[in-house]
Amino acid sequence: MPRLDLHCHLDGSLSHSFVEDVLGRKVSMEELQVEPDCRNLAEYLAKFALPFECIQSAEYLKYAGYDFMKSVKEDGLDYVEVRFAPVSSCMEGLDVRTVIESVLEGIRCGEEEFGITCGVIVCAMRNHSEEQNLDMLRTAREFLGEGVCAADLAGDEASYPMRQFRELFQEVKRMDMPFTLHAGECGNAENIVEAIECGARRIGHGVAMSGRADVMNLCRGRRIGIEMCPTSNLQTRAVADFSVYPMREFLDNGLLVTINTDNRTISGTSLEQEIQTVREHCGMTDEDIARMMKNAVEVSFAPDEVKQRLLEQFGE
Ligand SMILES: [Zn+2]
Repeated sequence: MPRLDLHCHLDGSLSHSFVEDVLGRKVSMEELQVEPDCRNLAEYLAKFALPFECIQSAEYLKYAGYDFMKSVKEDGLDYVEVRFAPVSSCMEGLDVRTVIESVLEGIRCGEEEFGITCGVIVCAMRNHSEEQNLDMLRTAREFLGEGVCAADLAGDEASYPMRQFRELFQEVKRMDMPFTLHAGECGNAENIVEAIECGARRIGHGVAMSGRADVMNLCRGRRIGIEMCPTSNLQTRAVADFSVYPMREFLDNGLLVTINTDNRTISGTSLEQEIQTVREHCGMTDEDIARMMKNAVEVSFAPDEVKQRLLEQFGE
């Protein structure tokens, strides 16, 4: 069975050795990773400061792309989509184009060396200005099909409702660039509806539609991919605990649920570990896991020939 991870942030997934290497000092795991039983969004978000320091030069961005591919190789992945916010790597004078080119170069080296296909998703940020986001997305559009596979919107969902970004993503749609949107993670189900109405093909997390038959029907009808990230969803308090984690509910309602890591290093996880976690805590069977991997192939932003190759790996 092929393994896919569609929702994974580059900054939250830089390896421990990468960070130590770039900073040139010993870094404790506590500096990089939340406690395994973290249930605190603020603590979770605070861990991103250090990785950001490490990806402010072209050289280190290239190294970060390569380092990421090395990590997912160790996790046994066949296909991965990695996302990051190019503007957040422009703090020391880099321009967006250089940032994107550098990451793509590192990933390309990793793809060749490790035999894994990777697509890059560029994240607009809720706290960035519309102009910043639009400029970044227009530049990224030039790389669509050349390493970049889609766009996303990330950042503080509770403070910035989805409707504020309607025009921005209508423009992305006009550019003919596919996108997924973080919605219904630490915000409400209305953000999911808005995101779909904007044209999102996938939803990041989506846990807030638990119990909302109307929103689930909408997702099912439009074949929207749902990118669930169990460990992260608990750590950030998107859900209180596994007894109310809606993965089984979403699957039973015919949604195209996928299983993902979100932030490998900060959450201290891997796809293998997420699979074990949902087996243990959500009663997922081999069949359920295979179904989620098939869903991931269907909703991935991969070209058709890559999807075809991945489907063949299921051995049917
Ligand atoms: Zn995310």
